[in-house]
Amino acid sequence: MSVTVVGSVALDSVRTPFGEATEALGGSAAYFAVAARHFVPVSIVAVVGEDFPEEHVQLLRDRGVDLSGLETARGRTFRWAGEYGYDLNTRETLRTELNVFADFKPKLGEAHRAARFLFLANIHPELQHDVLEQVPKPEMVLLDTMNYWIERAPKELDKVLRRADVVLVNDEEARQLTKESNLLKAARKILASGPSIAVIKKGEHGCLVHGRDFLFAAPVFPLEDIVDPTGAGDTFAGGFLGYLAASEDPWDEKEIRRAAVYGTVLASFTVESFSLRRLSLATREEIDHRFREIRRIAEVEAAL
Ligand code: AMP
Repeated sequence: MSVTVVGSVALDSVRTPFGEATEALGGSAAYFAVAARHFVPVSIVAVVGEDFPEEHVQLLRDRGVDLSGLETARGRTFRWAGEYGYDLNTRETLRTELNVFADFKPKLGEAHRAARFLFLANIHPELQHDVLEQVPKPEMVLLDTMNYWIERAPKELDKVLRRADVVLVNDEEARQLTKESNLLKAARKILASGPSIAVIKKGEHGCLVHGRDFLFAAPVFPLEDIVDPTGAGDTFAGGFLGYLAASEDPWDEKEIRRAAVYGTVLASFTVESFSLRRLSLATREEIDHRFREIRRIAEVEAAL
């Protein structure tokens, strides 16, 4: 099985209390792909500008990511700038420059359309919808979004939300999207609009996976030094959907629980450094080691 992701490939400038990065490789599709490629072949459908550094393309290519759907358009690459305080769970967006994304129309090739697993990463919901129209019968569609689009394109977002199988949002976005302060109520409201699973990420407190008939609270891998949480959500998505795309039975509850833990494991590498510096070095052995560590730490029966 393979996965296609449609999302941003970006130049990010980020400041946290532990340092800063300027115009570093970022974007939802980049984080996702570098995480998911540990499980299945991944294709990116996105656009960059003529100023996008070749070394970033090379990093993705070296990790086996299919870039046949990465267009280079005239103009500047999408840029995003954000800042975090000591509470790394909340961030302030300083700047969003859509640049080449403003005129982007995703065109999926034969191979991309054949992908059974689709990640509609954080881009304009209208573009997410265009993509869905081009993929005849996906097995699983995972949808991400953020406050930027909840505020600016609520109608378009609602249209695409109804057609997603799994919706992935953080706690703040879940509240904003559903106008519910309680996260269980928010998850149920998301399910009521169509999707089978709602995943609500709670930063360093793990995530809630709410299915039609199950609820799972996934823990995080405990780290002492978190440097920059940017991209953690997209990396989670890569571990989650990558694992399920490789599974014999992706709708099985146990597999979904494992997928969520792989999601938090992959995200734990992202937050250890700026950009994709640490994530891009993670090995499958390290990933499986952290997976086992989480199982050990979260074990309930052993303590009884
Ligand atoms: P996350 O921290 O997982 O929510 O994702 C952060 C990534 O999303 C950064 O690398 C940004 O480049 C990208 N990003 C931020 N805002 C937007 C936006 N409005 N549309 C698309 N991508 C965005």
